[in-house]
Order: sequence, then structure tokens, then C-alpha cells
Amino acid sequence: MRTQLDTLVTGALQQGSAVPAFTCYDFTTALAVVGAAEESGRGAILLVAPKTAATPNGLRLIAALRGLADAASVPIAVQLDHATDPQVIADVVSAGADSVLVDGSSLPYEDNIALVRNVRAALAAQGRADVVIEAELGGLAGDEDRAFATDAADNAGDAAGNVESDAPAGLTDSAQVEDFVARTGAQLLAVAVGNVHGKYKGEPRLRWDVLQDIAVRTRIPLVLHGASGIPAEELVKAAAMNVGKVNFNTELRTGVLAVLEEQTTAHRADGENLQALLGLWNASARTFAATALATLSR
Ligand SMILES: [Zn+2]
Repeated sequence: MRTQLDTLVTGALQQGSAVPAFTCYDFTTALAVVGAAEESGRGAILLVAPKTAATPNGLRLIAALRGLADAASVPIAVQLDHATDPQVIADVVSAGADSVLVDGSSLPYEDNIALVRNVRAALAAQGRADVVIEAELGGLAGDEDRAFATDAADNAGDAAGNVESDAPAGLTDSAQVEDFVARTGAQLLAVAVGNVHGKYKGEPRLRWDVLQDIAVRTRIPLVLHGASGIPAEELVKAAAMNVGKVNFNTELRTGVLAVLEEQTTAHRADGENLQALLGLWNASARTFAATALATLSR
């Protein structure tokens, strides 16, 4: 069943769990995620990248994911990820998404707030005040859609874990959190605490002190992006600090591409057996989603 994203996440947090969100560039992956969620009896989030949404068939993919969510036996939410363009947001919401990450994190602080407020007002004018808004404070290094190694240390203070008084620009400034949440009216808050998009250069090192500081300043659920590569035991710890949603993308793609690379020749020889190859694609994504669901569940 399709579910409001904030309801899904808040419910999970009340049980000490977090909800995994998976970027779906295609329907095969989305089917795998929903299949894994149904098997686990837990909810999940289908994320669509703004670049996907803006392609000629992007809105059809959103509509298809919404159909999938509606028909699922567990709560599923469909969210537009990292959006900044008001027109794309309006179109995607019309096509069936019911939550949006309004990402002004690369903008100056006041402009970030203004972007979220403007999107909220535009959605209300569209008759969609019900759309759940996640906002982001503090910039994440890396590219959401392309996995190049990114140095988390740029965001993570010095080797001893000390923060300079002028903290690196990328890290969420916990002192801004209360004001930001109050003024944006965001229902979820994505944070930068040493997490990166794409692949981690070296060991990922989350700044638990910063996360703790943020967690005590707001009651809305926190969101961790770029979770691919963060060890399971760390993710479990995050759920205890009010991180109710964890976004996965890179590892999912890595697994699918590895399967395709390994199996394409054999399946070409087997009468161009695309159907079987898609089955392996599904199985790879499903195994990854099942592991993430299990890791974040209590
Ligand atoms: Zn992200």
C-alpha cells in the first residue's frame, strides 16, 4: 500500500528501526525492492533521481512506481530525490510521487530556506499540501548518480576527529538545525555528517558527535544519504540517533552491473536470453534490498 513517507519513517523510528530508500533508475530494480520489502514484511522507499524524472519517460516511470506502491502488501513511498527545479517537482507530484527531497544544500543558508518555502507554497497552490518534504542542510560530497571515489575526510574534521571552530563547509552545522526546521517546515532533515554520495575513498567515518548534536535539536526524523559503503553496525547506531531513513544507491548499481558484466556473454549465447538476464538483475537488487531491510530493522 502506498504510504506517506513521514508516517512510514516515524513508525519505524518508534520501533528503533530505520527505513531504507533505494534509487530506482528502472522498473526491474523497483520490482526487486518491493519484492524484498514484501518478503520482509517491512516498508521501503522508492527514490527517483531528478535526472531520471526529467527524461522523456521519467513521469511514466513515476506513474509505474506509484502503481507498484499502491499494489504492494507493505507500506511503500515514492519520493523524488534531490530536486531543485519547481517545474520538475510539480510534474512529478502530478505523476504520482508523494514526497520530495527539496535540496537547497548547495545554496547559501537563507536561499536554502527560501527554496523549501517556495516549493511548499507552490505545492499548496497545486492543491498538494499533503506532499511530504525532506530538506537538506550541509552539502554532501560526491555525485548521486555516478560513483567516483569521494574523500569523506573533506567533510569530517581532522584525523583525530576534532572539528575546527570554522567547521568544514560540507558538514551540517547543528546550531542552524532548529531555525532551519522551524522556518522550512520540513518533515524530514537530510544531514551531512561525513557521509558522501558515491564511493568512499578509504574508510567511511561518520561524525557521531555531530549527528548526536543534531539529533537533540530537532524531533523530526533525520536522513542519511550515501549509505553505500557504511558498515552495517554503523548504520544500526545511526537508527538510535533518530536517523529514520537511509538512502542507498551506489552498492545497488555495483551489484547489478557486476551481474550483467558476468552473465551477458552466456545469456547472449543462450539464444539472446534477456528474460533470464533480467531475472538475475532482479535477484541482485532484491538480495541487496533484503540485506539493507534486515540491517535497519529491529
Ligand atoms: Zn542523496
